[in-house]
Amino acid sequence: MKTAVVTGGASGIGLGIAQRLRTGGYTVATLDLNPDNDDDLAYRADVTDPEEIAAALSAIRDRTGPVTILVNCAGLEGFKRFPDLTFAEWQRVFDVNVHGVFHCVQAVLPDMLAAGWGRIVNISSSSTHSGQPFMSHYVAAKSAVNGLTKSLALELGPSGITVNAVPPGFIDTPMLRKNEEVGRLGGPVEDHILRTPVRRIGTPADIAAACAFLISEEAGYITGQILGVNGGRNT
Ligand code: NAP
Repeated sequence: MKTAVVTGGASGIGLGIAQRLRTGGYTVATLDLNPDNDDDLAYRADVTDPEEIAAALSAIRDRTGPVTILVNCAGLEGFKRFPDLTFAEWQRVFDVNVHGVFHCVQAVLPDMLAAGWGRIVNISSSSTHSGQPFMSHYVAAKSAVNGLTKSLALELGPSGITVNAVPPGFIDTPMLRKNEEVGRLGGPVEDHILRTPVRRIGTPADIAAACAFLISEEAGYITGQILGVNGGRNT
């Protein structure tokens, strides 16, 4: 049975991806800041800390064998007018969203290279399609993830490893509801639904379905792609 690691797997989209992959027959371990204590393959690791990632991966490998599937879903949003944005805030958003992906890919790559097979899916953001005011650091960081995805796909394709990105748009998670609560969505979720072509909010299962496909054997000819899952809000 192949082993997948999902970062940010304790909440929202990451949780949905972990559940979907488990039902698809994969062994799934998660990395998160606050792991689910009832899940014995849920590990605490901050994706900005390579030592914590290495320790968690070593424990996972001991339990399950090599890790050949990685879904980078841990993410940190930020809202600030650009003139008020400090470099520390800019850097923290890059640390989690970009450097976290760097550390996790580096940590699992030896297993994938040894197996001659691997799947990496990076969860970016639909905000990268068109930009987003007050989210310059977040959009820049997620755009870097899309760029990294394309470059890694070219570099790792000959080794049997595919690398793709899924930029979600408007998915019903704690992150989105928190933004609604503090007025960062510019209106209630219901208003956005009316402006969404498929007339509903997305769910973690929508993103998980795309990830499950990209991870499957059938998707072996798909790499370096940015597969938008956003109800048609971005085309
Ligand atoms: P969520 O429910 O807040 O889940 C994010 C998870 O990542 C949380 O469990 C969080 O832990 C964890 N995390 C944050 N920083 C971490 C770190 N340094 N190390 C390890 N784990 C960390 O949010 P979500 O909506 O599911 O978002 C999942 C991904 O989708 C993110 O990358 C986000 O940017 C992206 N996304 C979401 C939407 C959307 O509409 N929801 C749209 C575009 C992109 P804590 O909660 O303990 O901090």
